[in-house]
Amino acid sequence: MDIRIGHGYDVHALAEGLKLVLCGTEIEHTKGCVAHSDGDVAIHAICDALLGALALGDIGKLFPDTDERYKGIDSRKLLKHVVDLVTDNGYSISNIDCTIAMQRPKLRPHIDTMRERLAEVIGIGVDRISVKATTTERLGFEGREEGVSATAVTILIK
Ligand code: MG
Repeated sequence: MDIRIGHGYDVHALAEGLKLVLCGTEIEHTKGCVAHSDGDVAIHAICDALLGALALGDIGKLFPDTDERYKGIDSRKLLKHVVDLVTDNGYSISNIDCTIAMQRPKLRPHIDTMRERLAEVIGIGVDRISVKATTTERLGFEGREEGVSATAVTILIK
């Protein structure tokens, strides 16, 4: 059996008046992520974990932010493309574990919706997708509500 692990990390700045989208789920908040795409920092971390496991670079390489085709794009489309690459390379996704660091708002009420949205795109059971949220105890850029970070790990199996 060929087993591969992948890790992803992403950060976006927060700004007033923008839509906040995490794991394909729109979340009511006064601020959203500044980005060329829809700014779904969690999906970007997951994409990078999957690409990392395949050693195929990162989403910046695959979907350059200078490319007008990706302006405002729903990040689920980027994720779908990356999942197709996993399949094309003969791997299946065993599981994904993602952590979002954000001071506010509380993400816990949205976690199950986020997992279901991801499962729809990725095509694996929701029991194989973990989404966790943490504050940073008001420390750092996340704690000052200047930005959001997300990390993700995944295991691929062939
Ligand atoms: Mg990003």
